[in-house]
Amino acid sequence: MSRPARIRIHSAALRHNLQVVREAAPQARVMPAIKADAYGHGMLQVAEILHEADGFMVACLSEAVQLREAGIRHPLLVIQGPQSEQDLVLAAQKNIRLVLHHEAQLLLLDRLCASTVIQVALKLDTGMHRLGIRAQRAKVVYQALQSHPNIHPDIWLMTHLACADDRENTYTHQQITEFDDVTESLQASRTIANSAGILGWSASHRDWVRPGIMLYGSSPFLASADFPSSRDDLGLQATMTLFAPLIAINRLKKGDLIGYGSTWRCPTDMRVGIVACGYADGYPRHAPSGTPLWINGQQTQLLGRVSMDLIVIDLTDIEATLGTRVECWGKQIDSDHVASLSDTISYELFCHAGACCEKNVEPS
Ligand SMILES: *Cc1c(COP(=O)(O)O)cnc(C)c1O
Repeated sequence: MSRPARIRIHSAALRHNLQVVREAAPQARVMPAIKADAYGHGMLQVAEILHEADGFMVACLSEAVQLREAGIRHPLLVIQGPQSEQDLVLAAQKNIRLVLHHEAQLLLLDRLCASTVIQVALKLDTGMHRLGIRAQRAKVVYQALQSHPNIHPDIWLMTHLACADDRENTYTHQQITEFDDVTESLQASRTIANSAGILGWSASHRDWVRPGIMLYGSSPFLASADFPSSRDDLGLQATMTLFAPLIAINRLKKGDLIGYGSTWRCPTDMRVGIVACGYADGYPRHAPSGTPLWINGQQTQLLGRVSMDLIVIDLTDIEATLGTRVECWGKQIDSDHVASLSDTISYELFCHAGACCEKNVEPS
């Protein structure tokens, strides 16, 4: 039996958000990022719901193998690439494309037998300085791959944007320019854009786009006064609702203190509700008093500290009974708002809650 806090996945919203990607990047093929269990939404379920996508991107080979074993036949891209010779053999067998981001990975190719042919994407570091070969080496490495007997001739070129979430940051232009400068003369499919690139930087679109967070109904942008940036502004729909039942309703007196550390003092007599959801369910421990929640068609607020299994909410002037469901985030409460109040991002909320809670896919 699972804990009372639950997640609901909205499949129609996932498909809607894929449509938003298609409209924003009409020339590109779309490869949803479904790494980390599809940002906590359930990798296999999301691959099924988004079967109209043109491919899928995951972080590591085991995720891609899991997709193949579940019968997914789409093109698959593994961003961490191979770590061993066995990885190469497995990827070749399963028809999985690997990112090569380090010259050490090229050495793994040397001991393969002639019949093993690997599909690859060569990743250039244009400024993230995490994974990728230096742009200046791109041509040489590309040519080495082209003439390598174990490499499939359809080599992709890719890079990843570091600051695309900030639409005023010119670093993105620099990255795209550097990518173009060194790859101009090469024949290859190209992929640059994450969600922020798709919605904010059309020069990054190219042959394939790699949306993640926007598919999961959350804004890829920093809040900005100059650009509409919220999920609603962008026409995205919530794909994950985290909800939990009320398990107690109490009347407190003016001056009563709530929760660990007694950080909330009731300013008047109050009615409060205790909700069976806490940081063990993926609700952020750093959510402050005042963080919005939704109950019975009304917005309310968190009172006091988040504990492991429980939170306390304000029920003064709100009709509710034991068992009434409280939405922590979802259609009514924007996860980006909860995340920013908690000094994190929706990506992290989704991954944590998704790993903690039983998930149901809403029938569509
Ligand atoms: C996770 C990831 C993406 C998707 O990023 P979002 O910001 O969620 O759209 C795209 N490309 C790479 C290389 C990634 O690791």
